[in-house]
Amino acid sequence: MADVGDLIPTDHPIVETYRGGPPAVDGRCVLLWVQRAKRATANRAANLAILAADMLGLPVVAAFCLVPDYPAATLRAYTFMAEGLRELPEAFAARNVGWVLRVSRPEVEIPALTAEFGAALVVTDQDTLPLGRAWRTGVAAALDVPLVAVDTDTVAPPHLFPREEHAAHTLRPKLWRAIAAGGFLDPIADPAAAVVSGLSAVRTGPDPLAALETFAIDRAVWPSPTVRGGRAEARRRLEAFLDSRADGYATGGRHKPEPAAQSGLSPFFHYGQVGPVEVARAAIGRRLGEAGWVGPRGFARFGPEPAVADEPLATFLDELVTQRELAVNFALRNPAFDRYEGLPEWGRATLEAHAADPRPVRYDGRTIEFGETGDRLWNAAQRQLVFEGYLPNRLRMYWAKQLLLWTVSPQEAFDLALRLNDRYQLDGRDPNGYAGIAWSIGGRHDRPFPPKKPVLGLIRPMGLKGMRQKFDLDAYIARVEALTGEPVPGTEPPLPSRRQGALALG
Ligand SMILES: Cc1cc2nc3c(=O)[nH]c(=O)nc-3n(C[C@H](O)[C@H](O)[C@H](O)COP(=O)(O)OP(=O)(O)OC[C@H]3O[C@@H](n4cnc5c(N)ncnc54)[C@H](O)[C@@H]3O)c2cc1C
Repeated sequence: MADVGDLIPTDHPIVETYRGGPPAVDGRCVLLWVQRAKRATANRAANLAILAADMLGLPVVAAFCLVPDYPAATLRAYTFMAEGLRELPEAFAARNVGWVLRVSRPEVEIPALTAEFGAALVVTDQDTLPLGRAWRTGVAAALDVPLVAVDTDTVAPPHLFPREEHAAHTLRPKLWRAIAAGGFLDPIADPAAAVVSGLSAVRTGPDPLAALETFAIDRAVWPSPTVRGGRAEARRRLEAFLDSRADGYATGGRHKPEPAAQSGLSPFFHYGQVGPVEVARAAIGRRLGEAGWVGPRGFARFGPEPAVADEPLATFLDELVTQRELAVNFALRNPAFDRYEGLPEWGRATLEAHAADPRPVRYDGRTIEFGETGDRLWNAAQRQLVFEGYLPNRLRMYWAKQLLLWTVSPQEAFDLALRLNDRYQLDGRDPNGYAGIAWSIGGRHDRPFPPKKPVLGLIRPMGLKGMRQKFDLDAYIARVEALTGEPVPGTEPPLPSRRQGALALG
């Protein structure tokens, strides 16, 4: 075999070659390095590893490195991930793939496993964020066999969109045309590896949940009492959503916290326990039949089927595919995606022009983190976040925007939102979070909203009045009180003085 490209289509946009060259001639297996996509099925990286192994007449071994010191990780985040990892030995066995879990860093362990198992080549998944990409570069530098990364985190491969997109409306047509042309929404099959040997039967490594006990991590953020990790739970949530809540998704249900019309799948996406293609296919299949195809609002015409009017489905796909892949584009193409400097120029300019505006009230970090501000709705959201690690979309927007009103500077509001989001959200440290915070605080992917308001300038306001129109705040607060077993303090958000005029509360 002259080159890895003879086994794996390295010129396909879902494949990125970190190290090329010929596979090892005396290889004894293909190593599948599982990193972002922590699932055995609906996984394009696993499929290409199996395909290459079948061509070489070799078995496949999947390996995961449980990094003991992931930056700023919490017991909550690790527990959710470990619950999903526990399912993997059996799930890979169903595809005739071996399984190894090691507590170590990938740059050390993947080259070591390659040598130990005699891997002819290594196949992995893709990661958008810098740390994951640095791991791949580090592993490639330490290997003497090929390393290819296969995108299975998005529907359309991000490499098709090399520039930073301005907003959803600029990405949407290109994205859905690419999806239709490339067949990227076609179902992902789960073939078993053809070659079964002793290596396919390998099952080694500690129990991932037990392994956490020795990690020096932030244990003050306890495991979510309501959201359990793992693919089985993700599929259960998906089915429940499609059974009973999907109908209301487009008609405002999505904005309500109770009963939530959202799927609740974002943590499972973040840990790669489900993938967007399988979720989109499940939703399309349920509403239109297996052969159905639909794009988001107005874009069905790019698909192979005639346009289908299914507003809930179109809206869901627009969030799951367009908005999610817009966030991936932002994290990949904007080097300041997780910094205040990543806000658009007009957003920073308007915030800075209003930086000296008097704030209605200032709170210190502790008051904010403990949900003890004067704003009862905000406190309820913060307490739900701290308690269970999840918030519905609309509350996330309100939650982030309010911080602008209570901090000294927009930079401080941005940094605080990011820190709290990443610390407590089960789906934190995700491109969606970076894009969501940049949207809420600085207008990224949004537009200016005249007239100017104190503090916010031209940033889109979102106040209590608007929230009250969307859902029953009292019922929501009562639900948080029942969840946490504690009364939520506060009253209405502090009203602006007459002199300040209408602060962004309406
Ligand atoms: C301030 C703020 C912070 C946010 N932080 C995060 C975060 O840390 N992690 C995170 O995954 N999302 C974040 N979001 C985006 C969005 O709120 C969540 O993805 C969504 O609410 C998750 O709930 P769900 O899975 O029930 O979504 P559903 O409505 O059921 O949607 C299905 C999937 O579509 C995707 N999606 C939905 N809405 C958006 C959106 N607005 N942008 C991008 N993708 C979307 C998600 O992958 C989601 O799981 C944030 C939004 C804001 C405004």
